[in-house]
Amino acid sequence: MTSRSFPATLLLLSLAVPATALAQPAPAPAPYAVEPAAAHPEWDAEYTRAIREATTGAQFMTDLVDHLPASATVPTPKRFLGYIAGAPDRLTYAGDVHAYMRALAVASPRVKVFAIGTTEEGREMIAVAIADEATITSLGRYREITARLSDPRTLAEGEAKRLIAEGKPIYYLTGAMHSPETGSPEMLMELAYRLAVEDTPLVAGIRANVITLITPVLEVDGRDRMVDLVRWHQANPDAGVPPFPYWGHYVAHDDNRDAIGLGLALSRNVLRTFLEWHPQVVHDLHESVPFLYISTGTGPYNAWLDPLVIDEFTRMADREVAELTAKGLPGVWTHGFYDGWAPNYLFWVAFGHNAIGRFYETFGNHVPSTEDRVVRRMSERAWYRPNPPLPAVRWSLRDNVNYQESGALLALANVAAERTRFLELYWTLGKRSVAKARTEGPAAYVFDAAQKRQGQLRDLMRLLRTQGVEVHVAEKPFTVALTWPPKAPGGPAKAGPVAAVGANDGAGKGTEESTRFAAGSFIVRMDQPYSRLADTLLDTQYVRADERVYDDTGWTLGYARNLEFTRVVNPEVLAVPMRPWNGTSPARPALAGAALAVANTADTDLVRLRTALPGTRMLVAEEAFKGARPWPVGTVLVPLEGGTRPEVARVLASLALDTEALPALPAVRTHELALPRVALVHTWLSTQNEGWYRLALEDLKLPFAYLSTQQLAREPDLRATYDVILFPPVERGDVQDIVSGLPPGPPLPWKRTPLTPNLGVDETDDMRPGLGLAGITNLARFVEAGGVLITAQDTAELAIRYGLARWVEVVPTPKLKATGSLLKAVITDAASPVAFGYDGTVPVYFDGAPVFKVGAFADRERDGDRPSGRGGKGDPDVPQGRPYVARPEAPKPGPGEEGFQPPEDLRLFYQPYVPRIEDRPRVILAFPKEADTILLSGMLDGADEIAGKPVVIDAPLGRGHVLLFAINPMWRVSTQGSYALVTNAIFNFDRLSLGWPPAAK
Ligand SMILES: [Zn+2]
Repeated sequence: MTSRSFPATLLLLSLAVPATALAQPAPAPAPYAVEPAAAHPEWDAEYTRAIREATTGAQFMTDLVDHLPASATVPTPKRFLGYIAGAPDRLTYAGDVHAYMRALAVASPRVKVFAIGTTEEGREMIAVAIADEATITSLGRYREITARLSDPRTLAEGEAKRLIAEGKPIYYLTGAMHSPETGSPEMLMELAYRLAVEDTPLVAGIRANVITLITPVLEVDGRDRMVDLVRWHQANPDAGVPPFPYWGHYVAHDDNRDAIGLGLALSRNVLRTFLEWHPQVVHDLHESVPFLYISTGTGPYNAWLDPLVIDEFTRMADREVAELTAKGLPGVWTHGFYDGWAPNYLFWVAFGHNAIGRFYETFGNHVPSTEDRVVRRMSERAWYRPNPPLPAVRWSLRDNVNYQESGALLALANVAAERTRFLELYWTLGKRSVAKARTEGPAAYVFDAAQKRQGQLRDLMRLLRTQGVEVHVAEKPFTVALTWPPKAPGGPAKAGPVAAVGANDGAGKGTEESTRFAAGSFIVRMDQPYSRLADTLLDTQYVRADERVYDDTGWTLGYARNLEFTRVVNPEVLAVPMRPWNGTSPARPALAGAALAVANTADTDLVRLRTALPGTRMLVAEEAFKGARPWPVGTVLVPLEGGTRPEVARVLASLALDTEALPALPAVRTHELALPRVALVHTWLSTQNEGWYRLALEDLKLPFAYLSTQQLAREPDLRATYDVILFPPVERGDVQDIVSGLPPGPPLPWKRTPLTPNLGVDETDDMRPGLGLAGITNLARFVEAGGVLITAQDTAELAIRYGLARWVEVVPTPKLKATGSLLKAVITDAASPVAFGYDGTVPVYFDGAPVFKVGAFADRERDGDRPSGRGGKGDPDVPQGRPYVARPEAPKPGPGEEGFQPPEDLRLFYQPYVPRIEDRPRVILAFPKEADTILLSGMLDGADEIAGKPVVIDAPLGRGHVLLFAINPMWRVSTQGSYALVTNAIFNFDRLSLGWPPAAK
């Protein structure tokens, strides 16, 4: 019935080990003695025998999973699929996993299957609910209970107590997010069967006290491709396993970094499921380190989490480690893997909503075959790993299943044993989240209505609503003192973190200074159940440089979307008259006039206007002009000619753009706002980063062709077909690998065939060849003929190293530490169309490399410290016995000359090496020269090494341009604030030389 019974159960077992269980050599001692199947007529003898044959040693088995109970009516995985969960060399397609779950639901009143959405490629995702029959019959009531407990504002304490006594905690298990991690769907089928059928006190207790919810395959598209790859490998055993570029339709392991941006179907489907069920625990099953890592993390833990959450996941982990160790499993541990900082993992669906998020990492072979594995570092004992994994092991898929399933059963049993405690904790966490506004604060975040980039602002508010966060709108203008930073006791306000942070300058507003906000400002209140999530997404992060971080350190959404936002501690803000925002935009007046001026504020809504009306003529003003107010260079003009007016009005109604109706097109120089022919390039090495670019372009409805580097190598005249080639970062090995590809060998196809029907998204007969020197030549020819090549991070490095961008170098930065941080960049050349719509500064996502420097000459001879001599430090040195000759002042570089000043002496001989100004790289964006102003959010140390360094460079080549980004402008559907750096370049691809060379001052 409860967990208290299992140690006793364990000690009962002490009989002889069947020979089959020890078929593989196993290191002694085997602490668990296997129960003979003959003593258990209630077991499925054949299935039980197969479990024992597939397990490579008795020490990798527990009494919980060394058998399977028989059922006359409910099909086992073996009866349905022909093999047991974790059978050697067998892996199950997602559709068959789902079909099995549905067969369970048909056969057992204890199982019910729910469709929870589809994947990008149209495959189904499911959730399976398992509990005793009475609970399954009343699922609606139990869901109502957890839903009501989720919002303490609408529930009295006494009623909550009654609901806690009546309710059942929901424990949500999810598998196969990462496609090469293959064991969890197999395990979850068997677990579902066992939970439905087994009559031990432990399982019956789970069934009676917990609602187990299972999504057996999260990344359904990728799962099917992984099974294809295994089939191909089995048919071609000597060729190894082909590299796996498309874990999902877009990204690889980053599908577990999408909980902030919700760009992927699996994130949205799980979030929706979570918000419909309100589970108390989400437990995500991964495979990597040996043999079973149970999540806690090394820290730093996310600073916005309730300590009670951290206490609870630690308690659960410690308990399972101890119990599994007591059952004799070697290598179950916690703490020393992953940090706990970023809120972008899928299991943050729990943390963000007052539930417990956790994960397992079991040891997986990727392929289902049994393998001899070597474990080096992690077989060492450590304080958090007193029972380390074995240094060498023969490991099977079934071993993996045994570990996962034993752990999951113990976790479920522990929750079952403390049914009301988990509901009580959930209720308490909700109450503390609501109280947050008045205890630790802040009271709210305010996004002033009087700011630019209303499209990005509304997108962010919509995202928060999708996340379950309530958003309000101020009914009228209001003024509030921020009361942050706090005053030191008895003294004046301390200097410290700024109260009000704006994307553009981070300038602090005074602690008691009243700040005014416009009517219609968005207010995200912290006295709501999901305030923790809102706070972590909207606040500013600080991470010490000596932390060992696992992923991004800064994600502040206001910065990432280039918005102004204010953290208000003063609870008076909660009394401002406001109403819930329902996601709608204000009504727009009818379109008058002969033309429309549309502000370019580097907002994604401007891109949406262009792409929604591909046939409508739009112009870019190359000069400033005056309407009812002044309009700057870069303003978009839409002639309201012919029948365009209703269409333009319809599209504008769905956007939040600042416009003015003009009586006539202004008489200024313009060029067409082009919707050019764009190609987006991927390698066959990794598609993860470019997947985020595809998501960004598709979200903006910007059409593009999807090409591999191999196609670039084959097409000598790319300019005939494309205007812009976007080459996102690859970040897989050295940049030379992009050119050289995989080592030569027999072809590795990535193709749909009868054997591999699920391989896509792109196809090739052989993944090995790279871009090649032919591809480099074709890219150079493309740019020389007027094309624009956009590169970022390592593809920018590639362009530099292979001669596509001259007079730019990548400089070493031994002291720099900036792991996935949001930094401030400044516009250094506002005349470039790439900078259209931006203010003086832009928040950018920077991941520590590369760091660029432009110039044709090594640093000039610099004036050193003066020699010891007369006078003071600032005085000239005066040699004796001759008249004094002053040293000439060092020349100051003019616009565009920095890095290109030839040595002062013997200029004649340097002349041939000095590029003409129009051929020089043009720095459009740079990090500020003041190192201590660069960090906005996350980690930054050694900032001196990036101070003043270029962030975006336009390197001309022939008639075209190569754009080099040191940052990643399109990252995880979160950095909309820098999207316009790319889309401006796309829309103005044939006018990038505007304002260049710079006018001499
Ligand atoms: Zn994983």
